Amino acid sequence: MKISHTIDKLATERILSPEEFKLLLTCSDPYLHERARMARDAVYGRQIFLRGLIEFTNHCKHNCLYCGLRRENIDLTRYRLSKQQVLECCKIGYDQGFRTFVLQGGEDNYCTDELLTDILRDIKLTYPDCAITLSIGERDRNSYQQLFDAGADRYLLRHETADAAHYSTLHPPDMQLASRKQCLRDLKEIGYQVGCGFMIGSPGQNLDHIVGDFLFIKEIDPSMVGIGPFIPHAATPFSGEKAGELHLVLNALAILRLIKPNLLLPATTALGSLHETGREMGILAGANVVMPNLSPLETRKKYLLYDGKISTEDDPRYCRRFIDQRMHKIGYEVVTSRGDYIEI
Ligand code: SAH
Ligand code: SF4
Repeated sequence: MKISHTIDKLATERILSPEEFKLLLTCSDPYLHERARMARDAVYGRQIFLRGLIEFTNHCKHNCLYCGLRRENIDLTRYRLSKQQVLECCKIGYDQGFRTFVLQGGEDNYCTDELLTDILRDIKLTYPDCAITLSIGERDRNSYQQLFDAGADRYLLRHETADAAHYSTLHPPDMQLASRKQCLRDLKEIGYQVGCGFMIGSPGQNLDHIVGDFLFIKEIDPSMVGIGPFIPHAATPFSGEKAGELHLVLNALAILRLIKPNLLLPATTALGSLHETGREMGILAGANVVMPNLSPLETRKKYLLYDGKISTEDDPRYCRRFIDQRMHKIGYEVVTSRGDYIEI
């Protein structure tokens, strides 16, 4: 069967056999990305949603083997932003038209429910027209509930890989795929717009794992999916591993768009770090979200999840103009809106 038929089949049936998924993952037929753009345009048009990323703590109790913030990276100077600093980041973003703030950080025991609910309430009071996304890892259900009640709207928790054996090679034994899945279910039940996701090219990953991730995503039925390339960090056990491949990331984005046309799908910073125009290529493969960094310049270099992360020196006050220009060049418009998930 011709590749274009398989692409059309995915666009209509939203599912393929593992062999067909693998065929599309590795294909270089431009129709895959074209079809993904059509699917996205039918739901969201050619509008790109903005999320302002605020990296508010780089303390982390975990030791994920891939991540530069891992506990055992003792060379890293750790920091936390105060509530005032977080609010200042929001202001810089709000003034440029950001209507979603993503509070991301390591799993930091200092960030109690009390501390976080206080920050959330203040952001919501100051910017009631904005959505808040949290990306702070695994917590218990009661904690997720309190954060939701205090104003968090969305939660990003990548599952990293849907294969338990693969998961256990990326994380120490104190982290389990089953508890991550439970967190995703809890978040959904509470009422968050939930995002899962994974890295392309994480050590030990093969195409079957990626197919497994697609099937898991179908089952979880999230509003958002964050995928980007794995990129090695020198101070991790994976320092000598290869980065994920660009074309695989792009094809995976396109396939996800066809599996679920209304997904909020970011062209990630990691993708922009892998290639100078990676984010543009991501949009052209079906993504519809960009996440410029609103964190203070002083802390950027201390939040290196991987080496070569972009935007460590870009002034957050001008990031909107910068991203507008980039998106405009490829025919897209960045909009001032919360950019909520659309049910179809
Ligand atoms: N601590 C939180 C949020 C920060 S990490 C959490 O773990 O959920 C956010 C994401 O960065 C992770 O989910 C992981 O997929 C990604 N990441 C970490 N190290 C990376 C690397 N070396 N290359 C690419 N992405 C990485
Ligand atoms: Fe911590 Fe998240 Fe990095 Fe794991 S991926 S070490 S939980 S910041």
